[in-house]
Parts: sequence; structure tokens; C-alpha cells
Amino acid sequence: MTHTAGSLDRADALALAADASRDPSLDAHWMPFTANRAFKRAPRLLVEAEGMHYTAADGRRILDGTSGLWCVNAGHGRAPIVRAIQEQAARLDYAPAFQMGHPLSFRLAEALAAIAPAGLDRVFFTNSGSEAVDTALKMALAYHRARGEPSRVRFVGRQRGYHGVGLGGVAVGGIEGNRAPFVGCLTPHVDHLPHTHDPARNAFSRGQPAHGAELADALERIVAERGAETIAAVIVEPVAGSTGVLLPPAGYLERLRAICDRHGLLLIFDEVITGFGRLAAPFGADRFGVVPDLMTVAKGLTNGAVPMGAVLARRDVHDAVMDAAAPGIEFAHGYTYSGHPLACAAGLATLRLYEDEALFARAAAMAPYWEDAVHALRGLPHVVDLRALGMVGAIELAPRDGAPGARAFDAFLECFHRGLLVRVTGDTIALSPPLVAERAHVDTMVDVLGGVLRGLA
Ligand code: PLP
Repeated sequence: MTHTAGSLDRADALALAADASRDPSLDAHWMPFTANRAFKRAPRLLVEAEGMHYTAADGRRILDGTSGLWCVNAGHGRAPIVRAIQEQAARLDYAPAFQMGHPLSFRLAEALAAIAPAGLDRVFFTNSGSEAVDTALKMALAYHRARGEPSRVRFVGRQRGYHGVGLGGVAVGGIEGNRAPFVGCLTPHVDHLPHTHDPARNAFSRGQPAHGAELADALERIVAERGAETIAAVIVEPVAGSTGVLLPPAGYLERLRAICDRHGLLLIFDEVITGFGRLAAPFGADRFGVVPDLMTVAKGLTNGAVPMGAVLARRDVHDAVMDAAAPGIEFAHGYTYSGHPLACAAGLATLRLYEDEALFARAAAMAPYWEDAVHALRGLPHVVDLRALGMVGAIELAPRDGAPGARAFDAFLECFHRGLLVRVTGDTIALSPPLVAERAHVDTMVDVLGGVLRGLA
């Protein structure tokens, strides 16, 4: 093939790929966390979104019960966010992130510091939750090294925790299916607390479960075994989201905080899901009254419109790293797109929208109705537990014999067929509607789910 012919082929292929009048080929895109083969046999494509709804490729309206992937907290297609992104793209598309800056990243950091739990007022930008987690782990190491405790290199995560897909996040994460394929190459310096899911004692609890605060004491045992002087940090989600919405037992997070303080361990809250009003408070830290030393965020930070994550650090953690460093770069870490102008524009517009529409307060006002609606599913076939807090909910189903996860996945497919987007993980259906949801939306979700559960094998 001549170079010219090759170029023509390439041009044809590019034209074909861009031709919106034909259905795309699904072959080339290797999809994330998706059953690729099954999906490509029967694809579920979304083409538009507005407010509480998606539009599927076949024209059906789909009620969004999951805020996309826990991220579109203000609802879809919000005009101020769209406008901010458009204007920013035209004004400054990109500025180098290293040794250069642009005003918006400083403005967004200032805004985040203003709404964050007290003391967490130093902000490092990333492009995702996974990157935020790996950044926070590195910060913890840098902090202890700066303070003259370089032996603190171990981390403590929790079973069933999800901290993204970077190797650091997978190492501290506790979802076996995500860890097992990589276990040989993960840091060996990680221990895991037991998870807090205890349906025997806590099934169908309203709000935080009453039993399980003592599970935090496992941290004391790990400290005793490894030595406090070897442990840098503990990382947990205040509410474990991706594993199926596990709420912290009353008193549990307080106890973790106290043990960390006793032994000089940093406490990292991974608030990638729980941030920005999801729990009917700005952050999980506010909801539970426990402030971490480092906090990771993403998702709702830009309403999902442009990828962005961040780590919020306690000022003295930041200052320790700054003060100990030789002249020059203090923290050898960062991403080409850290603080990307479009993401910052989206973030500023999103935080403004949360404020202007008082969406966190709105979530708090809706939360009791939401909780009642989720718990109204009690008694339906296969339902073994229901959990709800803020604007998060979970319906745990009994697994089908010999086919874990299959029943919930069938429910997901049937919900989509009936015009409702839910998320499933294992045998749990997870719900996290946009904070702009009206009672009628909540009613529709519960009606559809009730119908689907009644019909499930
Ligand atoms: N941490 C938590 C608690 C999450 O729920 C997620 C994603 O769902 C992540 C980290 C990873 O975020 P991302 O997918 O943006 O990398």
C-alpha cells in the first residue's frame, strides 16, 4: 500500500467514524468496568441528558436514579455550567500546570477551602477520584518524611472499600475482584480493617446502624502488630459507596479518628461519592462530625461535566511538606491536566449552583421522604436489607443460587427497559438521584423498582 493510498484510507476511516448519520462500530472501544461482549451484543447508549432524565439512543426517556455515576448532583445540562465551560474553552483552552498557573485554579481552590470542613484549606487538583486517592497516599508519606518519621510507610484500608483503580487505590481498596488480578504487584505495606456490613444485627436500620462501632478497634490491633511508627495513614469512605452503600455504624468514625490521633496516623476520608451534598451535608465529614486530615473529592466537584478530582489537606500537613523541602519543587507530583481551565470553570460554576439553589439543604429536606420511599420496598421478594442516608439508597437482594450478582443485574436491565437507570454492585441495587429530584421522581423510582422486584426470578 502506498503512502498516498494509506492516507486516503485513513481519511475515509476518520470520515466514517465521525459520520453521525450512521451507528458507530462498537468494536474499537474497550469499555471500563463493563461486560464488553454482552454490552456489544445489546448496547445501551445514551445520547442526551437534561435535568433528571437521559434520552436513550432509541428515543426513550430514562429517569436518572444514579446521578450518572454518583456525579451529576445538580442534574443534567445545567445552563450555568454549560456556559462556563463554553466560555472558558474559547478564552483559555489550556495552560501548563507545572511552574505556570492561571487564575481559575486559584479561585476554585479558594472556593473549595471555603466550603470544606474547618482546617482543610489546601487543595491539590487531579483529574479523577483515583488520582486523588494516589495523591493523598503520597501526601501522607511526604508529610511523615518531612516531620522526620520516614519509617511510616504502611497504610490501612478497609475490606470492601473502593478507592479507584490506580495501583495505590487498588492496594488500599478492599474489593477482592478488583485486587485479585494485581495482588502480586501491589504494595505489601497494607492492612485492611474489617468492613462494617452486619445484616444479622443491622438489617433494615433507619439511618446509621446501631451496631458495629467496635469494629474500629481492629485498628488498635493493627497498630499493636505493626507498630504505630510504621503506619502513615488510614483511608476509608465515610459511606462505602461502590461496594453497595454501607453506612458507618454510629460512633465508628469517631472511634477511628480517636485511634488515629492516639498513634499519629493521618486519617484520609475518600469523599469522592459522599462529597457535595450526597449525604445532605456538604461532605460526609460534616454529616458525621468527624474531620479527616486529608480528604479526596471528584465527581460532584464539576457535576460530572468535566473530569476533575482534588485532595483537600489540613493546612499543617501542607505546611510541613513546604517547610521541610529544599528550595525548588516541594512535592514531586502532579498531572498535565491538574487544575485544567475547563474543569476549573465547571467547578466554580457547579459550586455556585449548589449555593444559589441551596442544593445541600434541599437534599436535607428531601432525605426523610427518600428514606421512607426506599424502606417502603421492605417485604418485596428477595429484599434482604434496605439502607438510606441523605440522598443515597441501597436495596440488597438475596443472591440467586450459584450465580452471585445475577439477580441484581437482571433488575438493572429490567429497570433500564422500564425507563429507570440504577446501578448494581454484587447483589445490591444502589441509588443516588440528583439532588434536584422532586417527590414525583422518587415515587416513580420506587414504583418502577417495586414492579421490577415483584417480577424477578
Ligand atoms: N474513590 C471512591 C470512593 C469512589 O467511589 C471512586 C469512584 O467511584 C473513586 C475513588 C475513583 O474515582 P474515579 O473513577 O474518578 O477515578
